[in-house]
Amino acid sequence: MAPQLYPRYPPELTQSQSDYLLSNIKDWSIAHGLAVRPSTSFVPGGQDSDGALATTAPVTLFPSLFPRTCFDEALSIQTAYNELYAAIARDERWLQGIVEELLEIDDFIAELWKIHLKVKEEGYVQVCLSVFRRDIAKYDKQQSLGLFRSDYMVHVDPSDTLAKPVIKQVEFNTIASSFGGLSSQVAKLHKYLFSIDAYPSSSTNIIDPSKLPESRSVPSLARGLALAHLAYGSSRAGLPFCVLFVVQEPERNVFDQRHLEYALLSTEGIRSFRLPFHRILSDTKLDKDRTLIYTPPHAPEKSYEVTVLYFRAGYSPSEYTNQSDWDGRLHLERSAAIKCPSILTHLAGSKKVQQVLATPHSPHLKRFLPDEHKASRVQQTFAPIYPLDKSQAGNEARKLATNADTAVRYVLKPQREGGGNNVYRKAIPDFLKAQPESHWPAHILMEMIEPPALTNAIFRNGEVQSGGVIGELGVYGVCLWRNGENGSPGEILQNYEAGYLLRTKGDQSEEGGVAAGFGAVDSCCLV
Ligand code: ADP
Ligand code: MG
Ligand code: MG
Repeated sequence: MAPQLYPRYPPELTQSQSDYLLSNIKDWSIAHGLAVRPSTSFVPGGQDSDGALATTAPVTLFPSLFPRTCFDEALSIQTAYNELYAAIARDERWLQGIVEELLEIDDFIAELWKIHLKVKEEGYVQVCLSVFRRDIAKYDKQQSLGLFRSDYMVHVDPSDTLAKPVIKQVEFNTIASSFGGLSSQVAKLHKYLFSIDAYPSSSTNIIDPSKLPESRSVPSLARGLALAHLAYGSSRAGLPFCVLFVVQEPERNVFDQRHLEYALLSTEGIRSFRLPFHRILSDTKLDKDRTLIYTPPHAPEKSYEVTVLYFRAGYSPSEYTNQSDWDGRLHLERSAAIKCPSILTHLAGSKKVQQVLATPHSPHLKRFLPDEHKASRVQQTFAPIYPLDKSQAGNEARKLATNADTAVRYVLKPQREGGGNNVYRKAIPDFLKAQPESHWPAHILMEMIEPPALTNAIFRNGEVQSGGVIGELGVYGVCLWRNGENGSPGEILQNYEAGYLLRTKGDQSEEGGVAAGFGAVDSCCLV
């Protein structure tokens, strides 16, 4: 039984209060782009063939209660996390040690690694800092952008009645960290609902605007793309510049991405285009010094030089349907555009890296975060994670994972992103037994975080569901760095925290992904 930490919340609503609240949620959401494309099963007739329909994104009716100390800590350690993962992404040799354990048993990781090796053999194109230095461009160092998101749950030690709530990290995302567009909107929605008295007066001693932090994720992430765009330097091809959003098609979560595109244009003055993942080779070309040129299919007479590649696609094996998709990823990695993320940064976000950092007594954190104070704060957010290899820790984890009595405290994760890939609790032993033992090390075993009991109501697909919920706080981070050469560590050029996201799901669901169909976007009411 999860410990009780919060006051009774949210309040019960009468029918007319509920009607007022819902009609305002529906209208405000569509009016402000807190929206998704509908799933075909919710479109009358099962089709939205001309893509004209939008529906309210799954949202919570009330902002969820969240301990202020946990919120402050998660936001304030984000720059340390940015520094940590930027350092990992710059340490190719260390990453190689991690990836080599997976090459034989994880084809997806192996293919990504092959791309990195091919580009390395040819030489990563170095970004030219100024047109006057074009002749020495090869000595300039490659730059990378991370738009990261570190995800946490609140944890209370069940054996200590006086224990304070703390945050434990669920995972760290280095590719396609989503919902930065919608999370700014949902915090505004909840504030708006308060200001129009849509929350009954019995709850206004708990909900008050000073306790509802805004999420600056839209301007902050757009600024990150703009900073990388500026760092690209002068034109190499004499063409106008653009940023490319590499996207899945179709994309139900398109408005989340659009908020960033619109902010990039309106506040930073930067043109961007959406490039479907399967159109990489048809719509882009590399010139002889590997400058990336984009030609929009709607206006083929005008081409652009790509400064930044922002991947909102390419993280799942199912997107690589044939060799040309892999060729497309290689083609982009070879280019002079700044990648968000590069292949090495993508791989730095694998669950295996998180496990290696978090395995008790691991020496690796210190290597990347030499500042002891920062390292200790980051370390305190780690939940225990174990390998399933033949090391001592691995052998102990294998026993825990194959025994039905102990497996219930764990989640088993493969090296995948995007939700829907994990195996939970009592399903773990049978899942492992159905696999050859040689494949077990492709997974990591993580202790389940058990957050305090909390209730809220979720509006999704036109229905309200109330009851026990679990929240997951995501903190965005922007980091731009220059890679070192010949063993030098490189340098960080930009590093800041970039807003937050709260996702909330029913407590009967182990998975939390909003896009994967399990949760809702939410904002924090700090207590
Ligand atoms: P993905 O990269 O696919 O999002 P995650 O590691 O975030 O993978 O796992 C997906 C979901 O599973 C999370 O959003 C969370 O709801 C749940 N989950 C993952 N790890 C834990 C954990 N240690 N404790 C509790 N829930 C977890
Ligand atoms: Mg996740
Ligand atoms: Mg993830």
